[in-house]
Amino acid sequence: MRRLVLAGAPALLELGLRRLSRAVGLARLVRSVALVLALAGAALAPCAAEAKLRVVATLPDLFALTRAVAGDVGAVDLIARFGQNPHDMEVRPSHMLLVRRADVLVRNGLEEDAWIDVIVRGAANPRVLRGSPNVVEASQGIRVLKVPAGHVDRSLGDVHPLGSPHYTLDPDNAVIVTGNIAAGLARVAPEHARAFEANRAAFLDRLADAQRRWQAVLAPFRGARIVSYHDSWPYFCRAFGLVEGGVIEDRPGIPPSPQHVAALIRQMRDDRVTVILQESWYPRDTAKLIAQETGATLLVVPQSPGAVKGTEDYISHLEYLVGAIADALK
Ligand SMILES: [Zn+2]
Repeated sequence: MRRLVLAGAPALLELGLRRLSRAVGLARLVRSVALVLALAGAALAPCAAEAKLRVVATLPDLFALTRAVAGDVGAVDLIARFGQNPHDMEVRPSHMLLVRRADVLVRNGLEEDAWIDVIVRGAANPRVLRGSPNVVEASQGIRVLKVPAGHVDRSLGDVHPLGSPHYTLDPDNAVIVTGNIAAGLARVAPEHARAFEANRAAFLDRLADAQRRWQAVLAPFRGARIVSYHDSWPYFCRAFGLVEGGVIEDRPGIPPSPQHVAALIRQMRDDRVTVILQESWYPRDTAKLIAQETGATLLVVPQSPGAVKGTEDYISHLEYLVGAIADALK
C-alpha cells in the first residue's frame, strides 16, 4: 500500500511511517486486521497450560539482546525482518497479529521504530501501549549522540529527529539495554526475575570477553577515518576509536546532492580515507562512484544482526562487523 501511494514521489520515502499511515489508510488497514483477527480468534486464546511469556521486539538488535535475557522463559518475536531498513518499514497485518498476543514489547525509541505505534493501535493490545509497564524503552539511560540543536522539521525527511538511534552498535550500550530489558521482563514476570538476571550476567560475561578481542583487533586502526552511506556508526566509531570521516547522505534519510558528493570526494582525498561503509539496505551507486574517485574500498555491511547467515545473535554480529572493518582497513 505504502509503495503504491509513494510511486513517483521518492523524496517522500523516508518520511515517518506514523504520519504517513495516518494519512493513507490506517483505518482500512485496521479494519482488515480486525477481520483477520476475528477469523483467527480461536487460535489466539491464551492457553494457560503452556503459557510462555510472549515478548515482541521491534528490531533485530533488540530481538537478539532480548533473547539473550529471556532465555527459555520467554518466546521472543521480531517485527522488522532481518536485513530490513528500520527507517523504511511497511506495516502489515501479520505485525499486528504478533503484537496482539504480546505480553511485553521491546522498542528502540528515538523514532527509529515509531511505526510500532501504528502496529500497537491496530493490534488493539492496550498492554503494550507507549508508557505501559509492559513496554521496554530500550534507549532509557543511553547517552544519545548527535541530538539536533534547535527546531527539527520532519518535512525535511530527517529520520534522526531525536539524535542517532543506532546506539546498540556500541557494545557498552548493550549493558544498559539488557538492563532495561531484564527490568521490563521482571516487571511483567517477577517470578522469573532471577532467571533474567542470571541470563543477562552470563551474556555480559561473554560480551566482555568479546569486547577485549574486538578492541585488540581494531587497535592498530585507532584514529582511522571511515566514511559511511548512512549516519549509522557514531556509537561504533566511539567504541573502537575510529573517526567519522563523513556521511554520503546529506542528512539522514535524504539521498545526497551532487554538490555534497563532490565536496565529500575532495575531503576524502585530503584526509586519505580508505574505507566506505555501505549499509546493505541502501542503494550502492553513489558509494561505488565515490570509491572509484577516491580509491577507497567499498565495504557493504549489515547494520543489524541476522542479515548475514551466522550473525543472528548480538555478539556474532559485532564479531562480523569488527572483522570485516579491520580487514578493509588493512
Ligand atoms: Zn538511521
